[in-house]
Amino acid sequence: MSADRVVVVGAGIAGLTSALLLAHRGLQVTVVDAASEPGGKIRRVMVDGAPIDSGPTVFTMKWIFDGILDAVGTRLDRELVTRPLPLLARHFWDEGGELDLFADPAAAFDAVARFAGLAEAERFRAFCAQAREVYDTLEGPFIRSTSPTMTRMVGDLGLRGLSVLSRLGPMKSLWNSLGHHFRDPRLQQLFGRYATYCGSSPWEAPATLMLIAQVEMDGVWSVDGGMHALAQMMARLARERGAQFRWGARCERIELTGGRASGVLLEGGERLPADRVVFNGDIAALASGLLGDPVRRAAPAVGQRSLSALTWSIHAPTEGLALDRHNVFFRSDYRSEFSDIFEAGRLPRRPTVYVCAQDRGQDGPQAGAQRLLCLVNAPAIGGRGLITSEALAECESTTFSLLHRCGLALSPQPHQVVRTSPEDFDQLFPATGGALYGQATHGWMSAFARSPSTSPVPGLFLAGGSVHPGPGVPMAAMSGQLAAAALMGSLASTSRWRPVATSGGMSMR
Ligand SMILES: Cc1cc2nc3c(=O)[nH]c(=O)nc-3n(C[C@H](O)[C@H](O)[C@H](O)COP(=O)(O)OP(=O)(O)OC[C@H]3O[C@@H](n4cnc5c(N)ncnc54)[C@H](O)[C@@H]3O)c2cc1C
Repeated sequence: MSADRVVVVGAGIAGLTSALLLAHRGLQVTVVDAASEPGGKIRRVMVDGAPIDSGPTVFTMKWIFDGILDAVGTRLDRELVTRPLPLLARHFWDEGGELDLFADPAAAFDAVARFAGLAEAERFRAFCAQAREVYDTLEGPFIRSTSPTMTRMVGDLGLRGLSVLSRLGPMKSLWNSLGHHFRDPRLQQLFGRYATYCGSSPWEAPATLMLIAQVEMDGVWSVDGGMHALAQMMARLARERGAQFRWGARCERIELTGGRASGVLLEGGERLPADRVVFNGDIAALASGLLGDPVRRAAPAVGQRSLSALTWSIHAPTEGLALDRHNVFFRSDYRSEFSDIFEAGRLPRRPTVYVCAQDRGQDGPQAGAQRLLCLVNAPAIGGRGLITSEALAECESTTFSLLHRCGLALSPQPHQVVRTSPEDFDQLFPATGGALYGQATHGWMSAFARSPSTSPVPGLFLAGGSVHPGPGVPMAAMSGQLAAAALMGSLASTSRWRPVATSGGMSMR
């Protein structure tokens, strides 16, 4: 077995993926994380004795995890119980209307027809066809590519791919494109919201982001034990393959010797020497000098920050409305939410509210206290003392009054709620201001602005939602795969390691 030492800074899903793959290949892997357990944004908050998933709740692109676990000699369904959800999300509008979006295309068509008429359902079908085409076109040349550039992608797309994108109008915003698909503004709003899955405004995000809708229509799963069970499982598999985990271990500095990464310095003064380092924090921390001046050049300065969030993890009874697992509450004047956040830099005065009812679509209790995560989008202005307690209270009041107007009675007692603000997210994820998805995907070139898994600093690799291919649990996991493959590739160029090239990047078998 090799004695090549790797330190992974961060046990978010990308760091866990890299650690698992590298430990499986026999490298000596140590993962350090400032937190006390694995998962990073895949957080579990205890509220009144109940564990609430308080980060990601929508689990998609399960095939990425199938591939990762297959590469380490096991199977996802052997390690974790996941269940496909027949109902993707239930949507409510305060001015009237309720739409269930089903995973089954025929059921979704019928639901849209009942909601907005047959002609609109036909337009929905045409939208799905285009979203499918865009996804299929970009999966290989962009999502799975190790380091896409505009020129390389144009080469890889071929004539068919280029024609799909030119029909879409790549310079169009998602909002603009949806305006051509739908007559009913509520459907434009529903599908525009997918831009927020990568922390962006539907008015600024490129039309290509409609592929996120396709990802969701391809399937959403619930995970027994919650999303946190996914992170725990990845950590367990890495540990079984020899990776060591150090919790409560903040990395203060990534050290260089002769210009290449040679280890990390932990808060408290301990040094961990390494031959290679994988950084899984937000790259804003590198660019801002938080990990030391010499590694500033490892990542470009971050452009416009993505969305943060204001969340309430709740354990309390609900009444009056049949919640499903994923529920979205809309109101009119959708645009003001994003102008408040991205232009005025304030909490939205008219937020859309997402509610994950975690006991729905699973075996949990359907009566009595429910485990809920309520979330509204927020600006990434944490760490600067700009969000007053009055502003938080006002946003809380408009959030819960929308739920009431839509018919959901929910009045948790103070001990039944834990609130997390952009200030808190900034503390948890340093140098981000609370941004949860790296840089916003605004403008059609923005997707190419993300760093690849290799950095300009030899021996330092990047993995996580702030680098290519982008945020979200599966995409971040894919970045962890890309970082592990790049790291193995760097060993291959200097030693006996032989990674195997595949169409999806690098096999780690
Ligand atoms: C509220 C919320 C809802 C979301 N909803 C969804 C969803 O429904 N579906 C979905 O797919 N995605 C969702 N996301 C996004 C998704 O969670 C993230 O994109 C993904 O989990 C990011 O993983 P990561 O690998 O970048 O690491 P992160 O989760 O960002 O973890 C990074 C880790 O690095 C550690 N770290 C950072 N710096 C240091 C240091 N100097 N020293 C030691 N440790 C350090 C941190 O403590 C942290 O544990 C959501 C995120 C949030 C917060």
